[in-house]
Amino acid sequence: MSNLYEQLPTLIELQETDAQIRQLQDQYDSFPTRLKKLEQQLAKQREAQEARGEELGILQKEHRSQTRALEDNQEKIKKYQLQRLQVKTNREYQALENEISHLEDENAFLEDSILELLLRMDEVQQALQEETETFEKYEVAFQKKCASLKREARKLHRQIEEYQEKRKALYRSGHLDPGLLKHYDAWTTRKKTALVAVVDGNSCGACHITLRPQLINLLHHRADLITCASCSRILYLQPEQTEDPESEPV
Ligand SMILES: [Zn+2]
Repeated sequence: MSNLYEQLPTLIELQETDAQIRQLQDQYDSFPTRLKKLEQQLAKQREAQEARGEELGILQKEHRSQTRALEDNQEKIKKYQLQRLQVKTNREYQALENEISHLEDENAFLEDSILELLLRMDEVQQALQEETETFEKYEVAFQKKCASLKREARKLHRQIEEYQEKRKALYRSGHLDPGLLKHYDAWTTRKKTALVAVVDGNSCGACHITLRPQLINLLHHRADLITCASCSRILYLQPEQTEDPESEPV
């Protein structure tokens, strides 16, 4: 096993893998909420449509009841008109006459009311039809969105599994000291962030504090693990770019 400092690139790969897993897992965990939100929107549309249906039902019931009342009154009027032909006294005649007149008034009112109900029923019927069409379209879109969300979730799940495999491979590669791994695990469990900070210029790549020149010099030796005095992360200095022959200008 190489010295602890030389193990840092592998540890950085592990922490990048873990960061990917965390990020993908967060996305994956948001799916139930997103799905639920879609279902709630659909339920809301359905409720609006059902409320309209109920409104129509109430109007239809009222229409039947008033029509029946109108027919009953008409029957009564006919009956009283027949009785009127047979009465003996003026008082009886007047009483029937009053009754008929009262029923006729009531019928005039009922006829107006029935006409209004019919107009309102037409309006509600039309609104219901429009809402039903809208709901059907919405339901189709909902099914599509759900299917797409589920596909996306499956894809994410596969990606998470791939990164977890990669993590396992890195963990078991034997390139990482068990003590260092223990420290890494404890850190990531507690802080859920990277343990190794790559030096950026002369600053800590994580907390951005300026590092002392002696510290940078020590890092150039690539021997011991050095931690940032400010954020306690292990510092890592990238090897010089010129070490890569392909980056040399031709
Ligand atoms: Zn730092």
